[in-house]
Amino acid sequence: ARRAAGPGQVHRYDDAVRQQRDRREALRADLAGALDRGELRLVFQPVVDLVLQRTVTVEALLRWRHPVYGEVSPAEFVPLAEESALITELGRWVLHEACTTVAALPGTELAVAVNVSARQLHGGSLGADVLAALDASGLPSRRLFLELTESMLLDDDAVIEELEALRQLGIRIAVDDFGTGWSSLAYLVGLPVDTLKMDRQFLAGVEHDQQRQALCRAVLHLGASLGLPVVVEGVEGDAEASLLRDMGHRYLQGFALSRPMEAAQLAAGGWPTGLPTAAVAPSPR
Ligand code: C2E
Ligand code: MG
Ligand code: MG
Ligand code: MG
Repeated sequence: ARRAAGPGQVHRYDDAVRQQRDRREALRADLAGALDRGELRLVFQPVVDLVLQRTVTVEALLRWRHPVYGEVSPAEFVPLAEESALITELGRWVLHEACTTVAALPGTELAVAVNVSARQLHGGSLGADVLAALDASGLPSRRLFLELTESMLLDDDAVIEELEALRQLGIRIAVDDFGTGWSSLAYLVGLPVDTLKMDRQFLAGVEHDQQRQALCRAVLHLGASLGLPVVVEGVEGDAEASLLRDMGHRYLQGFALSRPMEAAQLAAGGWPTGLPTAAVAPSPR
């Protein structure tokens, strides 16, 4: 709807809407060739185990450097890829690239987590694509996690069977953005799932607010009562990181520990082993 404003402002509003639409259409058109033009790459964000004091997994995150728009977020272009069969092709490339990169790291048991989109999961070739990526890279299946969101696990026997088959081979399944689909909590029991990743939104304001802290604790306890490890994602500040450590929480991922790293940086072995010094130090009174 248009804002009630002077004619000049209406113009600016229309311009903004048009610009947004033009950008989306340009991105949609360009995405198809982005892979062949070498504009896509993966970055890798560490998941740190505070008990073992080391990075145990890295999450592969897709990046697109567009010749005109610069770095475009996957939050913007993955949904465009999902509109067509393109997501299957991208997903296959991501699996292959992620497994190859991590398999090539010398002397490590690091696992890699790959995000899977709904259309890819329902497309029917996920199992074959996963096996092809493991085969080509030589990565042992136990070092691969697939990240799926809650809604993707609902009411689909074919999907559950395919995931069950992948788990039989040693591949692990993580529920991404966990807690954002509370309406369907009962779905978790008995599902083929190995890990939960608590959504970033549960951390918002957690250092200052008792109620938010209680909610965060409840989500973590839920995972524990289901016998599933929980990764807290989006740990942005040192205060949040220390709070989670004080709560006895084990697996953290976020800017406070490490930003996503380029493949070369990962190969150089610069991943974190624990909390940053600022978060480890006792908080000032
Ligand atoms: P996600 O799987 O939940 O990934 C976590 C997102 O949170 C990443 O955003 C990561 O960069 C960001 N993040 C990590 N730590 C922090 C923090 O401390 N603070 C803040 N503010 N953000 C943090 P990114 O890389 O932009 O990816 C966005 C989403 O795009 C992902 O959310 C995932 O759903 C999707 N995505 C990324 N790569 C792929 C892919 O290869 N395939 C598919 N299907 N989806 C992907
Ligand atoms: Mg993810
Ligand atoms: Mg996530
Ligand atoms: Mg998330």
